[in-house]
Amino acid sequence: MDADWPTVGRHAVRDIGAVLIRRIAPAMQEVVRIPSRGKVVNISPEGCPALVLNADYRPLSYFPLSLWSWQDAVKAVFLGRVNIVSEYERTIQSPSFRMRLPSVISLKTYVRPSHHAAFTRFNVFLRDHFICQYCGTDGELTFDHVIPRRHGGRTTWENVVAACAPCNLKKGSRMPEECQMFPMQRPYRPSVKDLQRNGRAFPPNYLHESWRDYLYWDAELEP
Ligand SMILES: [Zn+2]
Repeated sequence: MDADWPTVGRHAVRDIGAVLIRRIAPAMQEVVRIPSRGKVVNISPEGCPALVLNADYRPLSYFPLSLWSWQDAVKAVFLGRVNIVSEYERTIQSPSFRMRLPSVISLKTYVRPSHHAAFTRFNVFLRDHFICQYCGTDGELTFDHVIPRRHGGRTTWENVVAACAPCNLKKGSRMPEECQMFPMQRPYRPSVKDLQRNGRAFPPNYLHESWRDYLYWDAELEP
């Protein structure tokens, strides 16, 4: 940010931020697309998304990677909620103000990570490494109840696995023993750590160089 920045009053700063975002946002391509399904996280580098770190400098989330659009990042800077850790070359400006877009920001207040992994379709696929638990294909996935609902099987971490449509169809509502179809790993309730570890195997299609230091520094090293 420019050197004269701190002399600007907070309200004025906020207003400038809002004006800047209104004026410049439409001109820039919309940025971070994180699909709720599938394993490819599509990121458009031209959109200058910012990597969001917790107050301990670890990413808020590895997968999908915690990224904010530049508009949200700039807003958070103006509201005093984040520190700028690293910047893009690219700047935004109005006649009276100029600022480099943040490429890495860190929250000023630590957000305690949840210890509880949410039971969602996405997280089940993530636990199962996005592969069919019967044949290992990584195509379009569905949900399979290992013990079919017809036999009293419930929709829980311990009874649901990722399965491709053909395997799902083939298994139908039969018990595993009936059709000799057993999932390659016994379904389990993962910890947030388990999911984070799995998520690291799926980096997004694009990583800005300034993000790399914060993504993998705490990863376990290969022996
Ligand atoms: Zn399959």
